[in-house]
Amino acid sequence: MVNWFAIRPDCRKALKDPVLRSYYKHYFSILEGKGLPYHMIARMVQVELRGDLDTLWEEHGRALGEFWDLVERNPREFKPVEPNFLQLKAEIAERILRGCRFCEWRCGTDRTREPGRVCRAGKDIAVSTAFIHLGEEPEISPSYTVFTLGCNLACIHCQNWEISTWAEKGLIISPSALAKSIDRAWGMGARNANLVGGEPTIWLHAWLRTFSVVREPIPVFWNSNGIYSREAMRLLEGFADIIKIDFKYGNDRCAMRISRAPRNYMEIMERNLKHARRVSEPLIRVLVLPGHLECCLRNILKSIVDWTGRDTRVNVMFQYYPAHRAPEGPYPELKRRLSWEEMEEARKMVLESGLQNVLIG
Ligand code: SF4
Repeated sequence: MVNWFAIRPDCRKALKDPVLRSYYKHYFSILEGKGLPYHMIARMVQVELRGDLDTLWEEHGRALGEFWDLVERNPREFKPVEPNFLQLKAEIAERILRGCRFCEWRCGTDRTREPGRVCRAGKDIAVSTAFIHLGEEPEISPSYTVFTLGCNLACIHCQNWEISTWAEKGLIISPSALAKSIDRAWGMGARNANLVGGEPTIWLHAWLRTFSVVREPIPVFWNSNGIYSREAMRLLEGFADIIKIDFKYGNDRCAMRISRAPRNYMEIMERNLKHARRVSEPLIRVLVLPGHLECCLRNILKSIVDWTGRDTRVNVMFQYYPAHRAPEGPYPELKRRLSWEEMEEARKMVLESGLQNVLIG
């Protein structure tokens, strides 16, 4: 096996960090062979796979209780049954796809016939690239990162714009082939499957099918912008071990202007962040934007404390650069990097926020 830790020795140390150990109890237990990821526990819960969508949701509610009971008992041995809770989730997602409501645009497109109105995604998952990533947080790297095409936001400064805007077409890949690549990555030492884009939400149906056939106990790192619907939120519970959300703005106006986000951006973030904290061990990333410390960063930090608690794992990042349409766009502050003074001010805001489990810089 490749010695990934020769390049990132801090990743090995992260597993011994007492603050991280007390936060990532479930995730670290999987990495240490003392527990199973949620997608596997979901496959140990028997369900009925019959009826209309309402009936399937009812069954989902019943199975969810059984799922959490099983989590409580911490099974070590994987004993799958069929049909199971994860297959039920995949079935529900495939039905939703015919009038898509995966994200908060709720555009209702039948994606078995035409691409989604905002995300431009069809039925079959399209992948740009996938590799073991060493640039994530120390507890997350090495991370098998699968970059998929399309997004439900249109950030003017998108740093992955080639894939989020479909500048490339990507490769259509079957869930079983994707599952094999994920199994291989676990064998090579990846700590998790990092599902990213673009935005993974738009491919939720394909991810649920993929993990229905994954064989290895690899945790799911759901790497999202957080603009997923209530239905997607329910499907993520019992599937994603770590829900990572990019908390980009501290108010609706900046979110709409810079990322063409839905009008109720903050309301969506509140609902999904609270839920992520309840059902997973979330990680929140905050990319500090130049000129947006008072209007955004201050309220983002306060909201995290109020909604998910001071001990939430947060990564406050200073690496903004004017990508995609930012250099010629209408917002002068986004045409430059952060100034030294802004970095100092951002550090001060983080310290004053009372957050206790933060990476900065
Ligand atoms: S993911 Fe969102 S934008 Fe795409 S089709 Fe579904 S509801 Fe519409």
